[in-house]
Order: sequence, then C-alpha cells, then structure tokens
Amino acid sequence: MFIPKRVIFEKGSLDTEIGQNIYNKVKDNPKIEIINASSNRIKSNIPGDNLYEQYRSGKETLVVGERKSLKFQTCKPSANYQLPLVSGCMGRCEYCYLNTQLGDKPYVRVFVNIDEILKKAKQYIDERLPSVTIFEGAATSDPIPLEPYTNALKKTIEFIGKEEKGRFRFVTKYNDVDSLLDAKHNNHTEIRFSINTPKVIDIYEHHTASASKRIEAAVKVANAGYQIGFIIAPVFLYDNWKEEYRDLIKSIKDKLPHDFDKQIIFEVISHRYTTKAKNRILEIFPETTLPMNDDDRKFKYGQFGYGKYVYSKEELADMKDFFIKEIKYIFPNSLIKYVI
Ligand code: SF4
Repeated sequence: MFIPKRVIFEKGSLDTEIGQNIYNKVKDNPKIEIINASSNRIKSNIPGDNLYEQYRSGKETLVVGERKSLKFQTCKPSANYQLPLVSGCMGRCEYCYLNTQLGDKPYVRVFVNIDEILKKAKQYIDERLPSVTIFEGAATSDPIPLEPYTNALKKTIEFIGKEEKGRFRFVTKYNDVDSLLDAKHNNHTEIRFSINTPKVIDIYEHHTASASKRIEAAVKVANAGYQIGFIIAPVFLYDNWKEEYRDLIKSIKDKLPHDFDKQIIFEVISHRYTTKAKNRILEIFPETTLPMNDDDRKFKYGQFGYGKYVYSKEELADMKDFFIKEIKYIFPNSLIKYVI
C-alpha cells in the first residue's frame, strides 16, 4: 500500500465518498501532510528545486481529485481504450516509461468520480456493439498500491464482469491483491504481473514487490479464477542472463499448484531506450548502471522521428529463441503473445 508523505485534496474531492475514505485513512498519521488545494496549484505544493528532488517528492505525493476529461485515450494494440482510474505510480523503476511521460513532478493521482468514469466506459462498450471492448487499467500507472484507498479496481472488475461485451486488463509489479480475490469477475478480467530476475529487481525496480511476492500474488488470483499473464520485461542480456531468466520461469511453475493446467499468457520485451528517456534517467538517477551505451546497441528508427536503441539483431534472435523454448518447455500449455 502506498503511504504518501503528503496528500493534496483538490477542490470538492473531500465531498465525495472516495475523498472522505482517503481523508479518514490519513488524517491521524502525523507523518502525512494534508493539503487542500485548488487544482491549478498542485505543483506548487510539491517541493524540489531540480528534477532529482522533484521526482522524489512527486513520488511521495498523492493527489485526490476529479477526472475532468471523460474522453478515454485509445490503447492499441493490446486494448481498445485506456481506463483512467489512477495516474502515476509509487514505484521508482529506473527505466520506467512514465519517467518521460509525467513531467517534472510525477505525482500519483486518484480519481474520485469512478462511477462517472465507469458510466462512460459503458457508453464506449455500447458504441462498439456487437464487438468486444477491452479496457487497459494500467496504461499510465500501477493501480494496485492505490486500491486500499479507492476500491476502484474491484469496482471496475465487477462492473466489467456484468458487461457481456466488456473486458478489462491491467498489469502490476505489486502483490497486494487480496481485496480482488472475491470480486465477481466473470472471467472478463486478465491480471498480468510484470516480473524480472531478482537481480534486475534489486538493482533497478526500487519500491516494488519482490519477484517471489509477485508470483505468489499471481497464484492467488489464478486460484480465484482470473486469467493470468506474465510480462517478462525489460529483459537485460547480462552475464548469466539465461540461467537467471530460466530460474525465474521455473519459479513460477514451482509456486503454482501441481494440478494447475490453465493457460498462462506470456509477453517478453527486451530492454530499449530513447535518447530522451536516457537523458531524463541520468538526471533522476545519476548513478544508474542501466546499460545505455549507444555504441553497444542498434539504432532503430521509429515513428515520428523517435528512434530507439535496441539490442542487435543476433542478440534479439538468440533471446527470442531462448524464451520461446524455455517457456514452452516449462509451460507447454502457455500462450506466448510475443518476444520482442
Ligand atoms: Fe513504472 Fe511500473 Fe515501476 Fe511503477 S512499477 S515505476 S509504473 S515500471
């Protein structure tokens, strides 16, 4: 659970059920500063003179407010729309894509008007009938650490459970899933866990759950009947990477009940970076050991002029071959969506 250093309540948010619930949870904690602010003053309440400090104080800040725009962003190719429940994340993964997305103060924000957001989701589902509409709940956040404050995931899972043509999916690096186990999901929600070798997690994924805790959480939600998936990402090709990623895949098998025979979905993504991300990371984590030496990588031109640095063709072919063989050997019944 996310324990912020400061909670900023935007105008009107304390008059809502979620706002009150959050206030009651934090009001007696002397270590949490409570700030009432009008929405245009959020950033001025978050201290920091440079990006390094602003990043850290932003990550310690919870903003409670209304989601004003109810237009959902598209989310291709994995889903039709992003479902805006939370934005930002308490985690401090050095390579996180949010580092370049959330500006100079990447605070965590929860929305108090979940009912309105779900009503809008219903409209999107109806507009696309008879097709199925898939919503992604973690496009700009990791929603799990906020769940004790909002109950938003459970509400969404049960809402989508009742929608014949609605589906929901989200991904997390956390393990606090107990409140979701009795949700009436009706097999309409897929929960993915982003995992990596213990070494990568220790070095780069600060303030997140360990690999074994994430896998234990995956087993719990699988036992509760949810479709589960694992995103192994970002894959780093360091000394001994094959042994360590093999052990990681085996550790999933070891934790599952022996008779578990449902299909598990795997997605595997190699490490890559853009120059913009690299520059931002070097400001926030000046001591980073992330492998970002351009000469060791291949430059791949992307859309809109945003190229990225990826592993070489031969390295990627070897990686693809390795993961497909290992996953299929350990989980013959699995679905490997992609290894890229
Ligand atoms: Fe980013 Fe995910 Fe890490 Fe949060 S847990 S900092 S969203 S990579």
